[in-house]
Amino acid sequence: MSTVPETFACKVFDDHVMRARLPEKVYQSLRETINNGQKLNPELANAVAKTMCDWAVENGATHFTHWFQPLTGITAEKHDSFISPAPDGRVIMEFSGRELIKGEPDASSFPSGGLRATFEARGYTAWDPSSYAFIKDKALCIPTAFCSYGGEALDKKTPLLRSMEALNKQALRILELFGNTEVKRVITNVGPEQEYFLVDREMYRRRRDLIFTGRTLFGAKPPKGQELEDHYYGAIKPRVQAFMKELNDELWELGILAKTEHNEVAPCQHEMAPIFTVTNVAVDHNQLTMELMKKVAERHGLVCLLAEKPFAGVNGSGKHNNWSLSTDTGYNLLDPGDSPYDSAQFLLFLIAVIRAVDNYQDLLRESVASAGNDHRLGANEAPPAIISMFLGTELTEILEAIESGKPYEGHGADEMTVGVHALPKFPRDNTDRNRTSPFAFTGNKFEFRSLGASDSISDCNVVINTIVAESLRVYADELETAENFSSALHSLIVREITEHKRIIFNGNGYSAEWVQEAARRGLKNLASTVDAIPCLLEEKNIELFRRHRVFSEAELRARYEIKLEGYIKVIAIEAETALTMARREILPAVMRFAGEVARDARAVKDYAPALSTTPQDKLLLNLTAGISALTDRIEALQQAMGGFRRSADVLEKAKYQHERVLPAMADLRVVADQLELQVDKGCWPFPTYTDLLFRV
Ligand code: ADP
Ligand code: MG
Repeated sequence: MSTVPETFACKVFDDHVMRARLPEKVYQSLRETINNGQKLNPELANAVAKTMCDWAVENGATHFTHWFQPLTGITAEKHDSFISPAPDGRVIMEFSGRELIKGEPDASSFPSGGLRATFEARGYTAWDPSSYAFIKDKALCIPTAFCSYGGEALDKKTPLLRSMEALNKQALRILELFGNTEVKRVITNVGPEQEYFLVDREMYRRRRDLIFTGRTLFGAKPPKGQELEDHYYGAIKPRVQAFMKELNDELWELGILAKTEHNEVAPCQHEMAPIFTVTNVAVDHNQLTMELMKKVAERHGLVCLLAEKPFAGVNGSGKHNNWSLSTDTGYNLLDPGDSPYDSAQFLLFLIAVIRAVDNYQDLLRESVASAGNDHRLGANEAPPAIISMFLGTELTEILEAIESGKPYEGHGADEMTVGVHALPKFPRDNTDRNRTSPFAFTGNKFEFRSLGASDSISDCNVVINTIVAESLRVYADELETAENFSSALHSLIVREITEHKRIIFNGNGYSAEWVQEAARRGLKNLASTVDAIPCLLEEKNIELFRRHRVFSEAELRARYEIKLEGYIKVIAIEAETALTMARREILPAVMRFAGEVARDARAVKDYAPALSTTPQDKLLLNLTAGISALTDRIEALQQAMGGFRRSADVLEKAKYQHERVLPAMADLRVVADQLELQVDKGCWPFPTYTDLLFRV
């Protein structure tokens, strides 16, 4: 049997393969292209394509596809085989540089938010050479960006690459101010922790809500949930173990650095974390990870649920986006470092992030907004919808000392003058981690914890990169023209702490007091998706993205439309599913059971005519009341659905879904869940929470 180091990345056309197979000159040019984020010279493309094709065919591939990430949030691929007719009536396997660099998929069915008229249905895909090609299901997949005819971004990768470029540009300006001219490139890194549920496939198949919406729309609370906290980090069951092993094998073959796995808080909930990597690669890898989780689960008679809140009353699933900045020379810019000089530079980058988060709370919140995530954020299991930052006491005290010009005497450290050039050392691995904070500094990286489990991690990283680039731009503009760098830097830092410290909160983000305190501080509380999305069209945000060439105004407007439309559709599908289940499954089941009870009551009365009321009568009365309430609420949901004005604009419609349809669904659910607890288990039309959560 082969070992992991032998099979790791065996399905990836990575540096190792390139170096071994490409002619030296071609390899060097390709390497430069990748390292500097440049366009590939078309002459090289043919040589690369040929080598890629040979390698892929040797490894069992028959097809190739441009693999891209349209605004549906999942990945798309269209396969073409390598075959090409040969004069002798046979075929040869062929792949050209043109086919490698550019594709023209018919894109008319992908959301474009009006960016692409249907008569120009073609979209273009362009190779992102910084993310390696790989083999999946006998197809060579080429990671690509996806644009319209006019070059507008129709995907999640294009703006991400643009935002990485923007950040690189501004960060280099700052490094130069510190006399650092060796660095050629500043990179952002991400390590996403991915949570998920596994349920039995047979159980899953019997629930329309899981099939159509990925989450349960009904289900009474089981007698045991997660109260005993006996699942978190618990021993992993053999069936799940087998799943995890196979998942790891597949991820490793694709060069994905799957590292940590453990049980999560809820029954049958788990987590996988890879080792961090460059952001655009991390985004691709996370998409592949989610896809493989679903695929591998199938093979084990399981279904992997990535919905943010599959079960009411049970912890939902999110993602933690661990983010840092590093140089091509291998230095982490968010590492406090050892020398005073490092400290000053670290401090400036730290403050840049603080300013960014404070000024653009709305965009961060928006980047994680979805119908599914609305059930989590602020629900005492996930960070609140209010964006704030955790720095830990040590670092917060240091900032306070700098602001007030007083010496810092924290935690046993020697007394030090706290100037820009001297930061007291503090424990690098901050262990007093606050799990309730949406945006936490954890030693040498920031951890954004508000993401939903099924989200692409691209959106939030586009925002983080761009808003930090903006802080750095403002700082560089100011410092480049300063007469005395040191004193300018000092006053800038002091000023920025004063201006933005309101965003720092080290307390309990789940508490009711925080909501009030945050309001006093003037922080935003965008409670739901429909509250968050409109910020995309605010002038300050349009200006931000335009300035850094991440989104044009037209691209932003398109995204606004697409997100709202997506939200409207999700709620519509959920409502339709709830209605069907209530009407065609729950109501008939309750009526059947009530009929049985009525027959039973009659039999008892036949047997004992003196009895005026039987115990059955009481149950029957309850059931009848339940049936009546259920019927009313089915009616009410039906009325609410699609009840918006036809002429209403997309935001109005989305708000309507949020304010009218969701509550009607919730009302219906309350009655149905109460009935579930009164009806014979054998009559209940689909598996219960107990079946789903405790039968893996
Ligand atoms: P946890 O948050 O569960 O305690 P860790 O903080 O150790 O776990 O790591 C979580 C994730 O953070 C992993 O994916 C890890 O690779 C990633 N990570 C660690 N260091 C960095 C860094 N400098 N930049 C980005 N991600 C990082
Ligand atoms: Mg974490």
